This record gives sequence, C-alpha cells and structure tokens, in this order.
Amino acid sequence: MKIILLGPPGAGKGTQAELLAERYGIPTISTGNMIRAEVREGTPLGQKTKQYIDEGQLVPDEIIMAIVESRLAKPDCEGGFILDGIPRTIPQAQALDEMDLGDYVVLNISVADEEILNRLGGRRVCGKCGATYHVTFNPPKTEGVCNTCGDALIIRPDDAKETIQKRLEVYHAQTEPLVSYYEKAGKLINILSEGSVEETTAAIQTALEVK
Ligand code: ADP
Ligand code: ADP
Ligand code: ZN
Repeated sequence: MKIILLGPPGAGKGTQAELLAERYGIPTISTGNMIRAEVREGTPLGQKTKQYIDEGQLVPDEIIMAIVESRLAKPDCEGGFILDGIPRTIPQAQALDEMDLGDYVVLNISVADEEILNRLGGRRVCGKCGATYHVTFNPPKTEGVCNTCGDALIIRPDDAKETIQKRLEVYHAQTEPLVSYYEKAGKLINILSEGSVEETTAAIQTALEVK
C-alpha cells in the first residue's frame, strides 16, 4: 500500500496519516515533521530550513527530495508507506515518479478555506513525537499533554494567523496544480473532509477498498 496524501494545510493529512499507518502497519513519511525535528535539534539542515518554515514558504525542492529519497530507501518502506506533505510542487512529483515507486494512490483531501482556519486555529502538536490534536475537534486525554509520550503540546509557530494566510496562498499557487497532475495520471481519489476525523477516515477506507 503506497499512499500520497495531498491537500491544503489543515486538511487533516497528518491526522489521517497516523491512523492509516496504524491500520496498514506502514510508516508515515512527513517532511514537515522531519524538518521540524531538524530545526529543534539545531542541525545544519534545520538551520538551512527554519526560515522557510517560519515564513510559510516551501523549502527548496532539492533539499526536500534529498530527505525523502534517503528516507524511502530504508527497509521499513519496502512494504509500503504514506507520504504526508510531499510532493508539494510539480518538480517534486516528477522527481518521485522518476524514483520508480511502483503503484501508488493519491488521496486528495479537500476542505473549505473557512474550515481550514478553524482546524489550524485549534491545532496542537506534540513537541516530541509530532502527534496532532485539536483543542475541540480532537482533544488529548489530558489537556496540553500528548497521549502517547506524555510530552507537552505546543502551538506551531507557523500556525499564526498571518502565516496561515501565506501558506494557503503558497498552496494554491504551487501545490494545487498537483491535483490535475495526478488526475491525468489516473491516480487521484478525491476525499471531501467536511465531517469529523472519524467520518473522514471512513470515507478514505471506503475509497481504498473500492480501489
Ligand atoms: P494537515 O496535516 O493537513 O496540515 P492536520 O492533520 O494537522 O492537517 O489537521 C489540522 C487540525 O485539524 C488538527 O488540529 C487536527 O486535529 C484537526 N482535524 C483533522 N481532521 C479533522 C476533521 N475531520 N475535523 C475536525 N478537525 C480535524
Ligand atoms: P501543513 O500540513 O500544516 O501545511 P507541514 O508540516 O506539511 O504543514 O509543512 C510545514 C512546512 O514545512 C511547510 O510550510 C514548508 O515550509 C515545509 N515543507 C514540508 N514539506 C515540504 C515539501 N514537500 N516541500 C517544501 N516544503 C515543505
Ligand atoms: Zn507525543
């Protein structure tokens, strides 16, 4: 099972990736989580990418593809994987296609802009494992604390209102063209995420079973 999750920031890609990874026993590759870990640890890669993330801009394709390529080469990806947040540009999609990944599907999760603001406005993430919560739509068992590792939940700096606006612009300009790229390739499955996390998961499962 090889799945690419496409959709605007806040659509629920990370949330669904966590659930799909558990269900199918395959790893999630989240470039956002990987880069945030590098930033947190202050590595050279983190220093090079921090400014892009903070400003809501995309990290350059070469940097992203180097990260993804070495991650996909690890043995745990042999039985399948979920790509969360990659590709985000046409050149990234082309680079992936040149890597001969085999058969994959693209789940395009769509949601109204207004709902995106509600979702991102209440998003909280675990500073350690990257697990995602929402203050009202998907609260942790104990307020402010990660269910799995017990670490403190934080607000991502790029979830500030101005940066959300910038990220939505970047999405429409640079990432949305991927919808027709994958539609033409016959790989696209559209998932409308208007309901709860559980309803979206159910819609994805139905779509994958039909496939
Ligand atoms: P993405 O990875 O696409 O940016 P996330 O998975 O981080 O999105 O979800 C954004 C926020 O919305 C999180 O706080 C998450 O808990 C919440 N969320 C995700 N899916 C839903 C849903 N179907 N209904 C309501 N809130 C959701
Ligand atoms: P969200 O799903 O909320 O948009 P992500 O965690 O996927 O957030 O990404 C956060 C930031 O990390 C992006 O705004 C961008 O700066 C960087 N990033 C993540 N994935 C990519 C990618 N494939 N290409 C370029 N930049 C990326
Ligand atoms: Zn955690």
